[in-house]
Amino acid sequence: MAVFEARGGPSNDQRTLALSHASRGFLEEARAWPAASATPIASIHISQQGGPGRTVIEASDQGLPALGYTVPFGALEASLQARLRESPVEVAFGQSCEAITVTRDAATLRFASGREAQAKLLVLADGGANSSRIPGISYETKDYGQLALTAAVRTDRATLGRAYERFTPLGPVALLPVEERFALVWTATPEEAKRLMALEEGAFLAALQEHFGDRAGRFVSAGPRAAFPLRLRTVNSTVALRTVIVGNAAQALHPIAGQGLNLGLRDAVELVEAITATAPDALGSDAMLFAYRDARRRDAARGVAFTDFLVSAFADRRRIPTWLRGLALAALDVVPPARQLLADRMIHGAPAP
Ligand SMILES: Cc1cc2nc3c(=O)[nH]c(=O)nc-3n(C[C@H](O)[C@H](O)[C@H](O)COP(=O)(O)OP(=O)(O)OC[C@H]3O[C@@H](n4cnc5c(N)ncnc54)[C@H](O)[C@@H]3O)c2cc1C
Repeated sequence: MAVFEARGGPSNDQRTLALSHASRGFLEEARAWPAASATPIASIHISQQGGPGRTVIEASDQGLPALGYTVPFGALEASLQARLRESPVEVAFGQSCEAITVTRDAATLRFASGREAQAKLLVLADGGANSSRIPGISYETKDYGQLALTAAVRTDRATLGRAYERFTPLGPVALLPVEERFALVWTATPEEAKRLMALEEGAFLAALQEHFGDRAGRFVSAGPRAAFPLRLRTVNSTVALRTVIVGNAAQALHPIAGQGLNLGLRDAVELVEAITATAPDALGSDAMLFAYRDARRRDAARGVAFTDFLVSAFADRRRIPTWLRGLALAALDVVPPARQLLADRMIHGAPAP
């Protein structure tokens, strides 16, 4: 078994990831949970700009120590890497795949370095870079026409482990607690994002304050900013001859509800189950691949639909009027089953079974 990665080493990605309570469980089981770098999310405050209604989901109401956790991307990468080093799996950095051939018996990969590798089961977890090399695989893409601007920000108040999700007509804004600061994800049009990226720190903080309001306190500092294009991209099939497609290569979501990597981890867990349940000489067989595909179909489709609904419903005024969204948020606050559905999605990444 081998992992091939195009990068020469760690990604140096500065993002913060919100991981569900369930993802923590998976990573703990794999002995790859970066406990020392994880911040518990005690509550999530959801509101909309310019309209009524808000809801707060508390971990204590769910009988849990935390609804989820924030983890620096780099810390998770390092703990997974350390775990891989202890395993017999070869991890080859600096290996950029540039050709794939699949036959009924095996998948053969060719790398820019000249190296070749052959496997009975190919797992594509490359964010979608190589799927088009597999016959029959294609993507459907919905461009939200937005960028996500990210930065670490501080306010003059303690975070108290509270995450904020605020819907605005220009797109959602999220603040995730990370120790005593927040990780900001601010969605904006490309023009607005370009303007925000160019502002000096004081002007950026003032713009954020005006956009977000003061529910988290007064913004006092902001770290380096980065911007990511936002689109929903789904693959037509998560399996092909000798191949499984997982993570962002299978479904790349808007980061509005922090579902992307959580969904990718569930792909990985299901794949481990499928592999464990298969005799070594049947790895990559149609029977194994179809069992994996069928097991993942429902959860993946729901994750895509949930995220797309949140983006469309809350960002597009024409689709659902502000008062109705306010009513929906207020209803979430008073209707326990609806709240529970939302809480389950945040905690488990899916409605509880
Ligand atoms: C702003 C933002 C915030 C987010 N926040 C959250 C969050 O809070 N919670 C959450 O769960 N998700 C979040 N996500 C989503 C999350 O980042 C992704 O779901 C996750 O990174 C996908 O991981 P992946 O390994 O499938 O794909 P990727 O992260 O795209 O990794 C693909 C890997 O494949 C390698 N590769 C590419 N091409 C080749 C090749 N030809 N040969 C060899 N290797 C190759 C790349 O170098 C890379 O290392 C966020 C996304 C964004 C944009």
